[in-house]
Amino acid sequence: MNAISFYPVFLKCAKVTIDTRNIEQNDVFFAFSGSTFNAAKLAENAIDKGALAVIVEQKEFENEKRNIFYVPSTLKFLQDLAKHHRNQLEIPVIGLTGSNGKTTTKEIIHAVLSQKYNVQYTFGNLNNHIGVPLTLLSIKPEHEIAVIEMGANHQKEIELLCDLAQPNYGYITNFGKAHLEGFGGFEGVIKGKSELYDYLENQSQTILVNENDPIQLEKTEGYQPKITFGAETSDYQFQQVSKDNSVGLIYGGNQAISKLTGNYNFTNLCAAASLGLHFDLHFDQIKNAIENYLPTNMRSQVVEKNGKIFVLDTYNANPSSMSESLKNFNNFNGSKTIIIGDMLELGEESETEHQAILDLARSLNFDEIITVGNEFKNVNQLSKSYQDAKELSEYLKINTIESKNILLKASRGVALEQILEFIG
Ligand code: ATP
Ligand code: MG
Repeated sequence: MNAISFYPVFLKCAKVTIDTRNIEQNDVFFAFSGSTFNAAKLAENAIDKGALAVIVEQKEFENEKRNIFYVPSTLKFLQDLAKHHRNQLEIPVIGLTGSNGKTTTKEIIHAVLSQKYNVQYTFGNLNNHIGVPLTLLSIKPEHEIAVIEMGANHQKEIELLCDLAQPNYGYITNFGKAHLEGFGGFEGVIKGKSELYDYLENQSQTILVNENDPIQLEKTEGYQPKITFGAETSDYQFQQVSKDNSVGLIYGGNQAISKLTGNYNFTNLCAAASLGLHFDLHFDQIKNAIENYLPTNMRSQVVEKNGKIFVLDTYNANPSSMSESLKNFNNFNGSKTIIIGDMLELGEESETEHQAILDLARSLNFDEIITVGNEFKNVNQLSKSYQDAKELSEYLKINTIESKNILLKASRGVALEQILEFIG
C-alpha cells in the first residue's frame, strides 16, 4: 500500500485521526502504537466504531476485507499522504515558525483572513511532524487558504515540515532563546528557523518580513517576493496604541485595539494585518477581527477577578518571552506581584538565564517576586521561592497576595495556572 494508491480512500473519509477516543463513522485511523497487542486491538476497535480504513505497522494484522492496511511506517505513510494531498491543493498555504508567538500569530491571522475567506488552520498547537500532516489532511475542497504552524526543537525539522506543507507564504515570528538545548545555542536557533526562508527562496515563494527585526531584515535582504512591515519604508506601516493594558494598531488613521497585552503582540497583530491587506481585506474587516479575537489559551490573557488584574501567561516561557512579559507588566498601573516559574529545556545555559531573569525582575518596579521551580530556586535565595506549583498553592491557601496586578508566567511543565484558584 502506498500513499498514492490509498488516496482515493482518503478522499472519501470524514477525517484522519490517530486518537482512538476520537474515531467516528468513516474516519481513517492511523494506529500509532508501541506494542503489537495494542495495534491489533486498536485496529479492530476502530473498524467496529465505523472507521473507513485503518493503517497498521504490523503485517500480520493486515486484513483488506476488514479495511486494515499494512504499511512499514505509519508516520511515513501519514506524511506521504499529507504531501500528496497538499500537491493536489491549489490554495495559498501560509507557514509560520519562530521561537515565540507562533500560535498567537496563527490564531490572529486566522481571525483576520476568516473575515473574507474560508480558512483552515492548525488546531491548537499541533505543529510537529505528526500535527502538520494531520492539519494538511484536514484541508477540504471548500477551504480557500490554510495557515500552518510549524514547531521545531532541532535542526532539519522545519525543512521536513516545509517539504510536507509546501508553503507559498512564510513568516518567522522571532528568533529567540527557546529550545537552546536541541538547536545548539542561539546561532543554531537562527539556522534552524531559517530553514523556512531556505525553502521559500528555493521555490521563489513570498516571505513576510518584520523589518523591525534586525535578523529578519538581514536574512531577507534583497530577496523578492516579500511583504514587509515594521519600518518606515515597509509595504505596510502601523503605529502601536495601547488602551487599558491592551495593545492595538493604527493603520491609515484608523485604529483596532485587541484584547491582548504585551508589546510583542503588536508585532503579531501587524503580521496578521499585513497578510489581511495583502489578501485584499478592508481595514474595517481587519479591525473587526482584531477587536473580537479572544485569547482563551493562557497566552498573554488579561483576566479580572475580585478587583484584581491577572495576566495569565502560563502556556509557556523561555528567556525571550519571559523578559518581554516582565517589561510589559512593569508598565501596569498600581501594585504588582510577579509569580514566575522555571523556563525548561535550556540545557547548560539554564542557570545563567534564570539568574538573568531574576536580575531583570529585581531591576524593575515589582512589589513582590515569587518564583516556582528548582531552576529558579537555585538562583533565588533572597526572595520567596517554591519548589513547584503545589507547594505554592499550599502557601496561598493561608496567605493572600496584596497587589492589584498579578503576573503568572512559566513553562508548560510547571502548570502554573493551577494556583489561580487559590489566589483571592
Ligand atoms: P510553542 O512553541 O509552544 O508552540 P508559540 O511559538 O506557539 O509556542 P505562543 O503560544 O503563541 O507561542 O506564545 C507563547 C508566549 O510567547 C506568549 O504567551 C508570550 O509570552 C510570548 N510571545 C508571543 N508572541 C511573541 C513575540 N512575537 N515575540 C516574543 N514573545 C512572544
Ligand atoms: Mg504554538
